[in-house]
Amino acid sequence: MKVLKFGGTSVGSAQRMKGVAKLITGERNIIVLSAMSGTTNSLVEISDYLYKKNPEGANETINSLEKKYKKHVEELYTTNEMKRKTLEFIKEEFNYLRSFTKGIFTIFEEKIIVGQGEIISTNMVTNYLIEQGYNAALIPALEFMRTDKNSEPDLEYISKNIKIQLDKVPEKDIYITQGFIASSTSPKTTTTLGREGSDFTAAIFANCLEAEEVTIWKDVDGLRNADPKRFPDTQKI
Ligand code: ASP
Ligand code: MG
Repeated sequence: MKVLKFGGTSVGSAQRMKGVAKLITGERNIIVLSAMSGTTNSLVEISDYLYKKNPEGANETINSLEKKYKKHVEELYTTNEMKRKTLEFIKEEFNYLRSFTKGIFTIFEEKIIVGQGEIISTNMVTNYLIEQGYNAALIPALEFMRTDKNSEPDLEYISKNIKIQLDKVPEKDIYITQGFIASSTSPKTTTTLGREGSDFTAAIFANCLEAEEVTIWKDVDGLRNADPKRFPDTQKI
């Protein structure tokens, strides 16, 4: 078994999602995905508005994000059936986000909101793979990705429960799941592994499944001799 992780840029558009599908081969591999690039930032922005008791601001960001997703869905699928199914899911997701604009807002609600990007991207990619004839299934990370009372991954629980989830949908070639999000035990709620946490998720799953390999895919043109954000004249090696 191998674990492959694709980050926000790799799933950043319908086109990129199609590219990810081409990279997935082999049997019984686990694909860990981030949210589409920019989405987690928008979800943080929505939370910031809600902390500041500005539901109008939050709704504006929710509406413009929903618009973007509807466009991605139009571009991603070829069949009307999958378009309709995924648009229905998107509608439910964004209505769920809107439900947070009424009522109290605390760190618990914030954690749920910022994790929705991964819920959306994994559903979209799974539906795409199924539409394209891949033998794929979504396994929900919140069912097995758990942190303990010190906010550290509970490796024993994860090892046991990831296998239970895989056994529920046996004989699939590809299992898609969410990076970044987790369930915490005390208090019992949804949490995250912190920004940019999906690489860590992939490493944890690989460890718990004693995978032969974990690959953190990067959507770049190659390896450079220095960080191009810090040096002007880097060269591709
Ligand atoms: N989507 C999350 C973030 O933007 C986690 C990740 O991409 O690794 O921080
Ligand atoms: Mg990343």
